[in-house]
Amino acid sequence: MKRINFRANVIRVILLLFLILCTVFIVRYASLGEDWAFYETNGHIYTSGKMTEVGTIWDRDGRVLSETKDQKRVYNSDSNIRRATIHTIGDHDGFISTGVVNALRSKLVGYSEINGVYTYSGKGNNAVLTIDSAINVAAMKALGNSSGCVGVCNYKTGEVVCMVSTPTYDIENVKEYEKAKNGQLGSVFMNRFISSTYTPGSTFKIVTSAAAIETLGDEAYTTDFNCNYGTVIENERLNCLGKHKSVTLKRAFSHSCNAFFSNMALTLGKTTMTKYAEKLGFNDTFYIDGIAAARSSYSVKGSRNIDFGWSGIGQHTNLMNPLQYLCMVSAIANGGEYVEPYMVYSITASNGKLLYTASPKKVRMLKTDTAQRLAELMDYAALDNYGKATFGTLDVCGKTGTAEVGNKMENSLFVGFCKDESLPLAFVVVAEGNEQGGKSAMSVANKTLQAAKKQLVK
Ligand SMILES: [Zn+2]
Repeated sequence: MKRINFRANVIRVILLLFLILCTVFIVRYASLGEDWAFYETNGHIYTSGKMTEVGTIWDRDGRVLSETKDQKRVYNSDSNIRRATIHTIGDHDGFISTGVVNALRSKLVGYSEINGVYTYSGKGNNAVLTIDSAINVAAMKALGNSSGCVGVCNYKTGEVVCMVSTPTYDIENVKEYEKAKNGQLGSVFMNRFISSTYTPGSTFKIVTSAAAIETLGDEAYTTDFNCNYGTVIENERLNCLGKHKSVTLKRAFSHSCNAFFSNMALTLGKTTMTKYAEKLGFNDTFYIDGIAAARSSYSVKGSRNIDFGWSGIGQHTNLMNPLQYLCMVSAIANGGEYVEPYMVYSITASNGKLLYTASPKKVRMLKTDTAQRLAELMDYAALDNYGKATFGTLDVCGKTGTAEVGNKMENSLFVGFCKDESLPLAFVVVAEGNEQGGKSAMSVANKTLQAAKKQLVK
């Protein structure tokens, strides 16, 4: 009897262990199954370590950007298109983690928890992107040797029509690709539009203006501060490029007066400034097609008044993320609401069955009235300072910014939107400074928008 009891207990323990292991496996399968399926040793997806079970990726104009031919991933025949779109589509080796083929691999390969990576046809799924590779090429050429990024979206629909990151590389050029893999070309695998943060510089004056307009009402427009090539805060000097004398919001914005905006931040206080920075997306994570962007940040807790003043003009420790900024300027252009930017229109199975279409949400960031007032300030800045003629027949509103990055090198930023009904585009351009001085972000924006007009207004 004793022996039978002992055996029964042993069986119970074994059964219990079995159940525990089963539970652990199911839980791990649910959370990690996709990663297991995409191990490079899975011959269903990878051939010689390269992802081949993805179908064809097209741009919005019907150009094939990448496809699988004879078990090999191949790219567009034009070297410029390959360079200008690689960060968006992603590479077969998985170095560009934010590229569509890597970030959306389960949708493209057809992974499901029930069927794994099994598809009836054995072919991967196809995707149509929202980007136009010709606009991407124009933006890439405009950036030239500068590192940086350009992002352009339709602020009424959320479609990203251009997304470029430099430096870039040609994936079909064996020598160049080897150099890229060895790190000789810098951080070429990073999509700066999604994964970078930059000091916003004067583009942050949009945030300080939003805080002033909503907090002070009409007084935001009549409050004046004195600028004598800058201002003095607690015995420390904060410089301005001009001597704007007694200056109010509209002219301070168009001429980017540092004395006005640093003093305005001090008038509004840290709580209000933090509240509006966060309303406009700072300290938050933005997503594009489910891919998380780098977080922007605004933090003035415990900072001295002089540093808080610097924060009001986009310096101090402020960091913007280009995707966050694209949402911000889209909201300003679109009556306070932005439509979540996306780059994948649709995914279809190889038999043509529609598997996915984008359904972006609208997100309210600002009151309609505040958005309109900010749009007016950006309109006036282009009219009063940048020169509307810079953009030819396009009615562009915007704000420039620069940020020193050491050794007298400056990053150049330009953010804004087109007022034209026929071309409702919002844009963010960052041109990083280099030994040659760096490109002007405004000129990059103009060249990109002219290409967009040519491609999209037909
Ligand atoms: Zn000034």
